[in-house]
Amino acid sequence: MAEEHLGLNVALTQLKLAAKKLQLDNGMYKMLSLPKRSINVSVDIRMDNGSVGVFNGIRVQHWDARGPFKGGIRYAQGLTQDEVTALAMLMTWKCAIVDVPFGGAKGGICIDAKKMSTHELERLTRRYISLIFEYLGPHRDIPAPDMYTDAQTMAWIMDTYSQLKGYRVPESATGKPVEIGGSWGRNEATGRGVIHCVKQAAHDKGLKLKNASVAIQGFGNVGYHAAEAAYNEGLKVVAVSDSTGGIYCPDGINPSEVLAHKEQTQTVQNCLGCKNITNQELLELPCDVLIPAALENQITCKNADKIRAKMVAEAANGPTTPDADKALYEKNICLIPDILANSGGVTVSYFEWVQNLTQEQWPLEVVNSKLETKMTKAFNDVVKLAKIEGSDMRTGALMLGVGRVANAIKTLGLWP
Ligand code: NAD
Repeated sequence: MAEEHLGLNVALTQLKLAAKKLQLDNGMYKMLSLPKRSINVSVDIRMDNGSVGVFNGIRVQHWDARGPFKGGIRYAQGLTQDEVTALAMLMTWKCAIVDVPFGGAKGGICIDAKKMSTHELERLTRRYISLIFEYLGPHRDIPAPDMYTDAQTMAWIMDTYSQLKGYRVPESATGKPVEIGGSWGRNEATGRGVIHCVKQAAHDKGLKLKNASVAIQGFGNVGYHAAEAAYNEGLKVVAVSDSTGGIYCPDGINPSEVLAHKEQTQTVQNCLGCKNITNQELLELPCDVLIPAALENQITCKNADKIRAKMVAEAANGPTTPDADKALYEKNICLIPDILANSGGVTVSYFEWVQNLTQEQWPLEVVNSKLETKMTKAFNDVVKLAKIEGSDMRTGALMLGVGRVANAIKTLGLWP
């Protein structure tokens, strides 16, 4: 289990590399290497069977020099403080890369969400938010969905925050259902953004997109919407997977048909006309584009030499370990790093926050067109820097993100 977590050591190594290239002084490096605040709470709830459940809740707020803290809430068994800190750090760089006025945070509760009833999840979410309430708010820290949390979870978060405040505060969480102030297009945004990056990278590399084959690990919010966006762009989705295993069909699948099958059977496996495969086999398939959209540390030194994709777009956070990163670069596989590839989610979260603050609701076409503009600019900024440095895209992205945050901190100065 532990090796599936994003290591804080990896995030710190990445920061060190960027700090060295940017010639940041040691004080700045030290400031950026530590979160501003880490909160640990014991989330105690009444379970459906009458017993008391005690769960560990975490919220880490990394840096807010460019705006309020922003980041997802994840429900996962074995969630660690180090993992959440690393993810909060990535959020800080990601918000800076896509140039939205937020800092980085992450949080979660150590639970197996699949084993809990909806009522238990609601009590758990509301109790957790009440415990960290004083550190949240539309100008302090704004939660969003992540693994095993969704629009319903965000509705409970927004409602709990509003009840404690005494008035309705829709801008206190993003990724909410549309009927209570969510943005059109937020659900699809991360997956859509991944495919925007794939399109840009294919254009840069002279790769033909029509019928290009795509394999996607993970069929949750991000994986499904990436599959749908790829399918709509004329790419051929040849494989998808979830925690139970994967399916492969060289002629291509229709993602919405696979989703209907998963909703009926709780698994993507045994889908008509497809061959069942393991998650490991999916990663090693011959394909044009590989999209890891589930867990951390999926491409490692153990399987990097077996990756046959021409391009890897990191929809998940931290799916590639640093040694695998190096191996893919040496194999000339184009890797679009997580802090760029999956930044579509936080971008539309920003749009949702702006819509809530101004009490507006933008049409889907406006949201999608603004998303494309933001992602294209971020992609080009990263590529430009990587070219100047003669580096891979991850180094370019880190330099862009870390550099912007360090500049904001320098400009603000230290008080008192
Ligand atoms: P989700 O809970 O909706 O889906 C997760 C998917 O991963 C599910 O299909 C699940 O079955 C699958 N999975 C779980 N364990 C697996 C395993 N061992 N092997 C293969 N698949 C497995 O989560 P999500 O919101 O889609 O998030 C996926 C990734 O994207 C995470 O790394 C998350 O941090 C990142 N991300 C999400 C967002 C967002 O807007 N939701 C934004 C940026 C990044």
